[in-house]
Amino acid sequence: MFQKVLIANRGEIALRAIRACKEMDIKTVAVYSTADANAIHVKLADESVCIGPPDARHSYLNIAAILSAVEITDAEAIYPGYGFLAESPNFAEVCEECGIKFIGPKPEALALMGDKIKAREIMRGVNIPLLPGSEKEVEKETEARKLAADIGYPVIVKAAAGGGGKGMKVVHSPVALTSALLMAQTEAAHTFGDHRVYLEKYLDKHRHIEIQILADNWGNMVHLGERDCSIQRRHQKLLEESPCPGVVDEALRQDMGQAALTAAKAVNYSNAGTVEFLVDAKRNFYFSEMNTRIQVEHGITEMTTGVDLVKSQIELAFGQNLTLDQDSIQLRGHAMECRIYAEDPETFAPCSGVITAYHAPGGLGVRVDSAAYERYCISPYYDPLVAKLIVHADDRLSAIKRMQRALEEYIIEGVSTLIPFHLKILKDESFLRGDFYTQLLDKYFTS
Ligand code: ADP
Repeated sequence: MFQKVLIANRGEIALRAIRACKEMDIKTVAVYSTADANAIHVKLADESVCIGPPDARHSYLNIAAILSAVEITDAEAIYPGYGFLAESPNFAEVCEECGIKFIGPKPEALALMGDKIKAREIMRGVNIPLLPGSEKEVEKETEARKLAADIGYPVIVKAAAGGGGKGMKVVHSPVALTSALLMAQTEAAHTFGDHRVYLEKYLDKHRHIEIQILADNWGNMVHLGERDCSIQRRHQKLLEESPCPGVVDEALRQDMGQAALTAAKAVNYSNAGTVEFLVDAKRNFYFSEMNTRIQVEHGITEMTTGVDLVKSQIELAFGQNLTLDQDSIQLRGHAMECRIYAEDPETFAPCSGVITAYHAPGGLGVRVDSAAYERYCISPYYDPLVAKLIVHADDRLSAIKRMQRALEEYIIEGVSTLIPFHLKILKDESFLRGDFYTQLLDKYFTS
C-alpha cells in the first residue's frame, strides 16, 4: 500500500481522506492556502505545505505548487477529492508523467466524460438512453433553431464542460433561443474556459437519480445502488437520499445499475465514479453525465452498503483487485444527507464569517462530515459548505425523524445556515410522500 498520500483539497473532503488514510496506516500531507492556515485538515494531517494565497487559482488549482509539495514531502499519490483539480485530465496526466499516482480514473476517461458532447456520443454508441438533442456542438443560431424545432420546445442549452449546475439555460420558445445561446456560450467560456454548448430536450418533470460504481484497473466493476438527488435549488443538490423513494424498485435499480456499468466500460473506467440519470414520470431513464470522482453525497451510499468508498478509491488506485462482487452488495435501511451551507435560508446568499458557537449533533445513526469548529472562519473564497449531516435508519420515515432531531440539535452561531430551510423541506407534504420532482423547492423562493 502507499506509504504517504498528499490530499489536494480542503474542507470536509480533505478531512474525509485523512480519516481513511489513518485507518489504512498511510501518512498524509495536507496542502493549504494562507486562508486555511488554521484549518482542521492541516492540523490532522501528518505534514502540511502552504501552496499559495486564498484565491484558489493560485493555490488549490496551482498544479506546479501542488507538485512541489509532493516533491518536498515524498508523497507517492494524490487524493483529489471533488472540485478543484479532481476532474482535470491535464492534472491526472501530469501526475502520471511525474510518476505520482492520481487517485482516480485515467486521464483518458476524465477527458471523455468531462466533455459532455463527447460523452453523449459515446453513450449513443453503446445504446444508453439519451434525451433527444445535439450530436455535436451547437455553434450558430440557425443550427440551434433547426434542432430545437426538430426536438420540440422546451429545450435546454448546456455547456460541454459544464459542472455545478452552471451554464444551463432553459428555452421555451424560438424568440428566447438567440439570447439563451449567446448567454450560455459566454457563461461557459467565462466559467469553464470552453465556450462550446449543446442542446437537449428539456425534461419538465424528472427526478435526478444517480448510480455509484466502483471499478478496478482490470475491468471488474460493481454498482452500489442509487442516490436520489432531486431536492435541488438552482440545479444544485441540497438533500440526497438512498434508496430513492417512490420511483426505483429492485428491477429499475438493476437496469440503471447495468446501464451505469455499460457507460463506465465504454470509457475503460477505473476507480469510483457516478453515472447520473434523469428519470421521467413514466420511469424512463436518460443518461445525464458521469462524474469521474468522489461525489459530495457519497456518504449515504456508504451508510446503506457499508462500503468505505474513499478507502476503496485508494486501494483501487494502488492497483488492488475489486474484492466486492455484485451479489455481495446489499442495501440496508435508508440514508439521507442534508448539505448545511452557510447561506441565508431565505435568499440563499452565501454568508461568510466566523462561527461563534458550534455543537454538532450525534447519537445513533448520525454522521457529521464537517471541517467546522468554534471560531472557524467561513471564507468568502470557497464553497460555503459547513457540514454534511448524514443519518441512517431502518426506513425512510425513521430517517426523516432522525434528521429532524439532528438538525434541531445542531448549533451553528455567527453565520446563517440552511438548517431552518432543511427543516422546512422535511415537513413538505410531497417530500414526505416521496412524490416530488426536481422543481419541488421552486415554490419556496422566487429568484
Ligand atoms: P452539472 O454537471 O452542472 O451538475 P447536470 O447535467 O448534472 O449539470 O445537470 C444538473 C441538473 O440540471 C440535473 O440534476 C437536472 O435537474 C437539470 N437538468 C440537466 N439536464 C436537463 C434536461 N435535459 N432537462 C431537464 N433538466 C435538466
